Amino acid sequence: MNRVRILQSLYDFGPLSRAELARVTGLSRSALTVIVEELVRQGLLTQEAARPSSPAGGKPARPLWFAPDSPPLIGVHLLPGRVEAALVSAGGKVLTKAERLFSAEPDAKAAVEALVSATAEVAGAASTTPLGVGVAVGGMVDSDTGTVVKVALAPELDGLPVGRTLQDRLSMDLVCVDMHPRAQALGDRWFGQGRGRSHFASVYTGEALGVGLVLGGDVHRGPAGAGGEVGHSIVQVDGEPCHCGQRGCWETLASHSWLRAQAANRGLPGATTLGAGALSRLAAARVPDAAELLGEWADNLAVGLVNLHQVFAPGLFILHGDTVAGGEELRSRIERALHSRIPPHPGGPPQVAFTALEDQATLLGAAGLVLSRHFNTPGPTPPRHTPPEERTRHAMP
Ligand SMILES: [Zn+2]
Repeated sequence: MNRVRILQSLYDFGPLSRAELARVTGLSRSALTVIVEELVRQGLLTQEAARPSSPAGGKPARPLWFAPDSPPLIGVHLLPGRVEAALVSAGGKVLTKAERLFSAEPDAKAAVEALVSATAEVAGAASTTPLGVGVAVGGMVDSDTGTVVKVALAPELDGLPVGRTLQDRLSMDLVCVDMHPRAQALGDRWFGQGRGRSHFASVYTGEALGVGLVLGGDVHRGPAGAGGEVGHSIVQVDGEPCHCGQRGCWETLASHSWLRAQAANRGLPGATTLGAGALSRLAAARVPDAAELLGEWADNLAVGLVNLHQVFAPGLFILHGDTVAGGEELRSRIERALHSRIPPHPGGPPQVAFTALEDQATLLGAAGLVLSRHFNTPGPTPPRHTPPEERTRHAMP
């Protein structure tokens, strides 16, 4: 945990001297020195050139920062029909990117080749062996085994052992696989507005809704990554049927399919492909019914945030995906709707913000999976990804 505090402080404040690090982390100088020496020995941190001493005198400080040749990270995003991969410096800069498209084949062979080839391409650009690979998947994942459980829009990926495949094909030891909103939350935590915060929620909006919750400084997963299906929390008893088989899920009221169906009912132009940007423009142009629909959608989005706030009080909701294109008008409507539906909380009213990471949030977040696993292993983590049936067998008395 102390290593994490030191690294997080460097991400938060930039290069810091030992004295400054001791002050912002609250660690004793001796505890700090032991950890810093180890990080320097591992090649992750380096002492930069001395800063001139302050007018008050004293020794010139030599700030610590990530070494230029410190092991980089690899972030991968596996989507239906597409793989994106990025080589990310330890300091959080995207160094190079690769992309592969693949066709849906029942045996997922094309998907595996695309995954391996995109990851290998960015790994090949690294001058030092990468620390590990983080993979964000747009669906449910068993984060213990690194296996895809279910991707609604790409069923050929169901059951794909992503972690084991990359370990075997690329000889990578550390491969972390997680669902996209949780990776995105780690992107916010390590590299975005979540820096320096121990609680916040990272919310993906668009065709589907997903939430990654950071509580007490770590992303919440539940056993084997089973938690986090917030899009399927039920907000309307006996509401519209959802593709998951239930009725009245948050997604049925707040995703694109709801928005587009409503826009079509109201005869708005471009209803079949409508998104937040176009709807905001229609509302600004005073097209009849557009502002009402924008308000209703903001309220439906807020309902899910209200439930999250009542249970976890994350204090900050960082929105990603399509709603960002809706601009300040949509953001402030969501925030007002959220405030109107919750009683006063001791921590003050929660904030709603748009991500500052733009389209790099998921790749940075996938890289953040590696950082979190490498520096902060809460609970036992299997050293290699084992198939679920083996895990069960080992767990038997
Ligand atoms: Zn559902």
